Amino acid sequence: MNDTYDDQNIFAKILRGEIPCNKVHETEHSLAFADIAPKAPHHVLVIPKGPYVCYDHFARSATDAEIVDYTRAIGDVCAQLGVAQSEGGHGYRMISNAGPDGVQEVPHLHVHILAGRNIGPMVM
Ligand code: IMP
Repeated sequence: MNDTYDDQNIFAKILRGEIPCNKVHETEHSLAFADIAPKAPHHVLVIPKGPYVCYDHFARSATDAEIVDYTRAIGDVCAQLGVAQSEGGHGYRMISNAGPDGVQEVPHLHVHILAGRNIGPMVM
């Protein structure tokens, strides 16, 4: 996988409204929705609306407005779920897989927010 964006990926279809999602939060440049196969009581995916394959692609190609919007959207989702540590919540794990070594399945940048139980140690 490289930074050539495949507009037939499933998250692109969600953004175009071609398939449904369980929306959690939306801003001008970002969308958050429930993972279809949750690994924790809260498992939310936060994606930018722009055509970015992975985090490094986004960080190097997105506009400042998109980066600010996406960063704040992730924090706002944590607050909305009631897990924001800075607001007394129990916290969460935030993961973003990239490329074959990161075992990224969907080639549109997404951050996983996993929360609602102790997620346990990082297992490698
Ligand atoms: P990745 O391995 O980081 O790319 O994870 C992709 C995630 O997308 C997985 O956790 C899937 O369960 C999730 N997923 C795949 N298709 C859908 C969908 O249609 N709606 C919501 N989540 C999805």
